[in-house]
Amino acid sequence: MNTNELYQALGVSPAVLAYGETVLADLAGRFAAIDANAELGQAKVLAAMQKNRVNAAHFAATTGYGYDDAGRDTLERVYADTFHTEAALVRPQLVCGTHALAVALSANLLPGDELLAISGKPYDTLEEVIGLRPSPCSLAEYGVSYRQIDLLPDGGFDLPAIRAGVSEKTKLVHIQRSKGYQTRPTLSVARIGEAIAAVKSVKPDAAVMVDNCYGEFVEPTEPSDVGADMCVGSLIKNPGGGLAPIGGYIVGTRACVDRCAYRLSAPGLGQEVGANLGLMPALFQGFFLAPTVTASAVRGAVFAAAVYERLGFPVVPASDETRHDVIQAIELGSEAAMRAFCKGIQQAAPVDSYVTPVPAPMPGYDAQVIMAAGAFVQGSSIELSADGPVRPPYAVYFQGGLTWPHAKLGVLLSLQKLLDAGLIQL
Ligand SMILES: *Cc1c(COP(=O)(O)O)cnc(C)c1O
Repeated sequence: MNTNELYQALGVSPAVLAYGETVLADLAGRFAAIDANAELGQAKVLAAMQKNRVNAAHFAATTGYGYDDAGRDTLERVYADTFHTEAALVRPQLVCGTHALAVALSANLLPGDELLAISGKPYDTLEEVIGLRPSPCSLAEYGVSYRQIDLLPDGGFDLPAIRAGVSEKTKLVHIQRSKGYQTRPTLSVARIGEAIAAVKSVKPDAAVMVDNCYGEFVEPTEPSDVGADMCVGSLIKNPGGGLAPIGGYIVGTRACVDRCAYRLSAPGLGQEVGANLGLMPALFQGFFLAPTVTASAVRGAVFAAAVYERLGFPVVPASDETRHDVIQAIELGSEAAMRAFCKGIQQAAPVDSYVTPVPAPMPGYDAQVIMAAGAFVQGSSIELSADGPVRPPYAVYFQGGLTWPHAKLGVLLSLQKLLDAGLIQL
């Protein structure tokens, strides 16, 4: 069978395939830039692995306390060298991105301190961590106050407000790189650098923490290259390369990361304990693959933007915009279109492809949420996935794709389902 016939067997009609190829013909330049960036990311990771003399002994499992765990300690040095930081905490005991962020915040904020968010309202799951929605063990309960400076209408930092807003009480400043489930633009590393400089010009010893989720390896530099004291993220997103089955990371200054380690395990124990439980092969190899896996996801996002833009749907970011994360928002305008889109993404999956996603209530959301994901790692969103709250403007957030051909198939099948439902014309 040729590719055309194989695509037909997978459910993509010749008309949809031809439409996709027309769109792709215009994207060669974009893809070349994405691949050049992956090459740079790959070189960064390789250099860090070689410098730290990664070898087979580092893949051995440890149990119990995990004292002198060479694999774990080497992986942390590899992360630190890749992000150009003094220290790193990379562990399966950081159970998800929210946990890593909660550890970074609670370790570096004491009663009476103020947390200042300068990129607007943080990601939904941090609302309980901060105490914006009352929750046991929130920072608010421990006497940490919170203030927020919103982004400007154009999506940039409000630098004058930031300079005026940083006070003697401001101990830690929060920046979120990715848009999360908002339709604001994602912040570039360059912009983040300007905001960090504004904070430090007023209070040089204020620590700046960047929620780096979905941003790793999308640009040649990371927020830690432009002055962030901590960058924090999840291993079931970009840096796990699709292979990490669990985990989070915190990279940054020795002072900040030490406190995170004491908060994660116990005062006095810190980074010295924490068995690797046999996960080192997946965590090393996943990080090795992360730059090219991220590039596959970015290619998929650009292709989705170009396809849906051409059909007249509002997309964020546009297909010709520079990318700062792997998320693509597409405003589909109706529940029927969201259902059709998600059905196509699901049908493209290697796992659970026979399932039809339907909207359902979700904790923390005021509307029902529809989700398409057929992943090897539960909840992994560096694997091809799409989701969104079922309410106007009926936007789906499309992300991931461990390989570019899989991301491409997902976009083509989403298009096929919209076509079959009579919701679009090619
Ligand atoms: C995913 C995400 C988080 C939370 O990570 P989890 O692993 O889902 O807990 C936090 N911030 C942003 C911007 C994210 O995208």
